[in-house]
Amino acid sequence: EEPAAALSVPQAGQDGLVLLKNVGVVDPYDLDDYRSNGGYTALRTAFAIGPAGVIREVKDSGLVGRGGAAFPTGVKWGATASQPDHPHYLVCNADESEPGTFKDRVIMEGDPYSLIESMTIAGYAIGARQGYLYLRGEYPRALERLTNAIETARARGLLGENIMGQGYDFDIEIRRGAGAYICGEETALFNSIEGYRGEPRSKPPFPVEKGLFGKPTVENNVETLVNVLPILTMGAQAFAAIGTGKSTGPKLFCVSGNVEKPGIYELPFGATLGDLLELAGPPERLKAVLLGGAAGGFVRADELDIPLTFEGTREAGTTLGSGVVLALDESVPLPRMLLRIAEFFRDESCGQCVPCRVGTVRQEEALHRIADRTGAAAANDIALLREVGAAMKDASICGLGQTAFSAVESAIDRLGAYE
Ligand code: NAD
Ligand code: SF4
Repeated sequence: EEPAAALSVPQAGQDGLVLLKNVGVVDPYDLDDYRSNGGYTALRTAFAIGPAGVIREVKDSGLVGRGGAAFPTGVKWGATASQPDHPHYLVCNADESEPGTFKDRVIMEGDPYSLIESMTIAGYAIGARQGYLYLRGEYPRALERLTNAIETARARGLLGENIMGQGYDFDIEIRRGAGAYICGEETALFNSIEGYRGEPRSKPPFPVEKGLFGKPTVENNVETLVNVLPILTMGAQAFAAIGTGKSTGPKLFCVSGNVEKPGIYELPFGATLGDLLELAGPPERLKAVLLGGAAGGFVRADELDIPLTFEGTREAGTTLGSGVVLALDESVPLPRMLLRIAEFFRDESCGQCVPCRVGTVRQEEALHRIADRTGAAAANDIALLREVGAAMKDASICGLGQTAFSAVESAIDRLGAYE
């Protein structure tokens, strides 16, 4: 059995956990262990209430996407289910690549059957017979455990033809990424599965209408999908009572940086940033916190009362994104860190559109000039960064270019970087 510490879950085994209840407790290779801890009761409920019933429960639960964009999951499922064009596909986005994000990894390594069961429920709800699990290439342990879970579930009648004798056929194929951040963008991911370059497509049309192989597709993040299990076992109303009115349910947070106990934490939406840092052991001299990863933004050490909800972070002028909470103490050289973020975006830009392809290079050049002056910026550097950042935000095809200036901008505006 995996020691909980190896899975980076400081709360492992604690009472009251919803999403992490099995992690570090259930043997990830043992289907019977999973079942004796409540596994596959949600799928049984799904068969009892039918596809429309599952979609109604997911809508009523208020569940929104956990990949970062918080789109209502039930709306997505309903839109795909009603498309006359067939086949319908389910795609699980497990290409978790946002710097500082490792929550999906913990679920896939620690509780792989929960994802297989969730995907089966989602496939059933939207009328799909084929699901794809697009897995980050750098997650070999998750690959091994998910492969075992899929094969075992298939051998035991929980995947493949006539699942649980209910007349529903569904199977899952794993596809591995090869290290490109952009392949986590949902339409670049479709292209990657189809054998093309991982370049984003223009939206609309949205995947619910034209997705994988041009067919109606639901693409959901790992954490989004596993929330469907408690929704069906506890009921939509009870689920919606957790968290806040607009951000319902439990949430996983990826805590790293200068804290005593880094790892994945589960808290109901609505806890404050300060509450979370208290659990993780904050540094003595906290300087700032990066929320949402490289695509997110910095907040100051005196802003710890920000509620960790999608609406609360938005109102505070920042983002929750995929749940990254990276604490920085006074020892962190901020200009060097910002330069590293800029290098990352320049490197990961797919190069398809000019604002991002050129903008990420110009941004990095400006930050290099500033770093060469040991962190002090000339006024024209800041003006250039803002101009390039605005062009990237307004004119890039996808989220990568649109957020490539976010962290730098927040460091300038909120932390007074380069002054
Ligand atoms: P988005 O807002 O364009 O879309 C979110 C989802 O809603 C997509 O699935 C989209 O197809 C769907 N959608 C939006 N409008 C729709 C409509 N009218 N009808 C039907 N479906 C609709 O955001 P995005 O570009 O997919 O994602 C951006 C987010 O990704 C950011 O918040 C960022 O934090 C996050 N992100 C996460 C990771 C990670 O590793 N988890 C990595 C990079 C970025
Ligand atoms: Fe590619 Fe960047 Fe354009 Fe996205 S914004 S399509 S990553 S060049």
